[in-house]
Amino acid sequence: FRTSLNKSLGGDSWLTKDIGTLFSGEKLRDDALEELETRLLMADAGLEATQWLLDRLQAEIGAGRIKTEKQLREQLKKALLELLQPIAKPLKIPAFIRPYILFVVGVNGVGKTTTIGKLASRFKKDGLSVLLAAGDTFRAAAVQQLTTWSERSGVPILSQGEGADSASVIFDAVQSAKARGLDMVIADTAGRLHTQHHLMDELRKIKRVIQKHDAYAPHEVLLVVDATTGQNALNQAIQFHEAIGLTGIAVTKLDGTAKGGILLAIARRMALPIRYVGLGEAVDDLEVFDAEIYVESLIG
Ligand code: GDP
Repeated sequence: FRTSLNKSLGGDSWLTKDIGTLFSGEKLRDDALEELETRLLMADAGLEATQWLLDRLQAEIGAGRIKTEKQLREQLKKALLELLQPIAKPLKIPAFIRPYILFVVGVNGVGKTTTIGKLASRFKKDGLSVLLAAGDTFRAAAVQQLTTWSERSGVPILSQGEGADSASVIFDAVQSAKARGLDMVIADTAGRLHTQHHLMDELRKIKRVIQKHDAYAPHEVLLVVDATTGQNALNQAIQFHEAIGLTGIAVTKLDGTAKGGILLAIARRMALPIRYVGLGEAVDDLEVFDAEIYVESLIG
């Protein structure tokens, strides 16, 4: 994680870029906080997280605890960790819940299918038997793409034809996993319908159908968001959370042009667990989110 994240966030990335101009001097520059504010906002941290961080630092300056740039760096690190550590909660699959039902939701293009493929492979490596449910029945390509991931990772998939009822595909997968004694079902879901309203209705319906089988399922509703879309990612998180209730988030494409601040915005606004980060297109490019490593890569 450290190496790939440093590689990803290094160079052109937000807080690390020209870090020297902000942190190298002995004495605190007058405009250091202003400069930091600009960088945070440009990195998609959003107003709320940025303001929260600046207020923290301002209070420390007021209390005389920040006099040098080194101290500013230390306090910034502390504040960032305070924001992120409580939500860096890895997904744990309890052994007593079988099958464990994981819904993966998100709008088209964010990397949902890829993330499902990576997750399937990861859980299989952990020794769990996984069944994929091709619940995004509205896009023929989605089923095909998921089937390719299934073949690649040697994880079985249950699918029906295009236009099949998504809830029934997922319900069948759960029944099948039960009958076969499998450990978990990872269900893909639609990423786009005619309207946003339809999409949320569909997701609610799937949830209701599954809950007839198990009142406490799905055990995890994981939202996939694309870090390169900035504040859109936060808006999606809010909308999905209001509609079906999320239990975790995976943030993809942190290896790209994303500046990574969106994690701070999500943390400050929603405090939802961040489970994984996507750092590339390959099967192993999915890492458990670790706040400390992340913060270290941000401020060097
Ligand atoms: P979906 O429409 O949400 O199912 O998105 P896909 O899984 O098809 O992914 C869309 C594109 O994003 C594909 O080209 C993926 O290879 C790419 N992608 C997914 N996750 C990542 C990531 O973490 N990093 C990068 N660089 N690309 C990713």
